[in-house]
Amino acid sequence: MRSFKSLIVFLPLTSRLLVELVNATPPVNDEFTNRIVLSGNSITFTGTLAEATYHVSDDEVDGYPIYANRPLTESVWWEWTPSQSTVATLQLKVMKPGVWPYYGVIDGLAVYANVGPTFPTNPFVYYPFAGFFFDPGIPWPSCSFYATNGVTHYIQILGSSGSAFQINLQATNDPVIYEQPKSQLIQTNGSALLTVVAKGIRPLSYQWFFGGMPIAGATNGMLALDGLGVQNNGGYFVVVSNITGVTTSSLATLAITDSAQSPWLTADSFAVSNLVLSLHGEAGRHFRIESCTELGFWSQENSLPLGPPSPGHTNLTSVIFNSTSSSKIRIPAESGRKFVRASVYEPISPVCNNTLKQIRFSKEKWAWEKSKTGTDSPTDNQLFDGMLMWRRVHACPEGGAYHVEPLYTVPRCTVPGHILEEPR
Ligand SMILES: [Zn+2]
Repeated sequence: MRSFKSLIVFLPLTSRLLVELVNATPPVNDEFTNRIVLSGNSITFTGTLAEATYHVSDDEVDGYPIYANRPLTESVWWEWTPSQSTVATLQLKVMKPGVWPYYGVIDGLAVYANVGPTFPTNPFVYYPFAGFFFDPGIPWPSCSFYATNGVTHYIQILGSSGSAFQINLQATNDPVIYEQPKSQLIQTNGSALLTVVAKGIRPLSYQWFFGGMPIAGATNGMLALDGLGVQNNGGYFVVVSNITGVTTSSLATLAITDSAQSPWLTADSFAVSNLVLSLHGEAGRHFRIESCTELGFWSQENSLPLGPPSPGHTNLTSVIFNSTSSSKIRIPAESGRKFVRASVYEPISPVCNNTLKQIRFSKEKWAWEKSKTGTDSPTDNQLFDGMLMWRRVHACPEGGAYHVEPLYTVPRCTVPGHILEEPR
């Protein structure tokens, strides 16, 4: 029997407050000649394309423009000189999580190296030898390249509709882990998917460990476990390696349990535009958040979006992952939702659900490894690290057929109710 602890709240019926930030001056590093100098081996820096321009001088530096087919209007610059030869990995994050889609906000990132006479004597010796188009469908946009001791590298962000962003530069030969495997609390006989997001010079190799021992055949960026019992209790980690180095992930714990504690909600704030709640519950669990405008409408309105969709997932649902003992939940005021409740979430078919999660992760990994865009669809052979018969190995227990779908869209099973609701 599932029990609910409900919280009743009333959202103020105010119109949305529109705030427009006007920035009339271009960023200081708008021009190549005014580039910002970076130093260090682990750098996180921010920037904006708002009011930035794209001049002929930018073109001159961009001797072989890799974005020539785009109507670029904005470009900003940095320079970085490594103090020793190393692999450098750059990750780009757009700092407007509420903006969807990201198209046109950031178009790409390019890195140039001076391998000849000094600019501008011969600008064409500066060539973009690393970089990527920024596409909202590709999670974890990044690039890795060999940087030579003493050689100055120029980093350019290009776009066409000003936005703020953050770049992380890691100068290390070891693969960089951007997302560690997550500790989870799973019901007995349930399923779990452990994943790692690592970047570096490709190809990357993976080996998962349980109880300090390597798991035979667990050599992918993800580890799927079904039919979990006490024998699966314990710590898991993955070693990621490539031609230049080795990195060990942090430890993720799987705890298998027969019981579940009900969560509860508290209200944090009643802002003009949002209602902010805290969910309190067991760490490592998924919880379902439901809301409605009138108490009689639960069944029709139980899948509100909690906030702006996240990149790559247009059908964000009300299931959240509670990584610690509490999570923040934001409900847009314009949704008109006045009643909210929370419960423990368990998929109808844990095995089918775990396959859907594997398909989603495989799609994302394929996209970042192959620089695909969000509307691309991988073939069966491009998923599961090329496992040819994955549909047979991962058959839906109730006979459903899987639709992989383009990267933007979550994969689905044809059995009603077999829906991937958990967030990425
Ligand atoms: Zn299914």
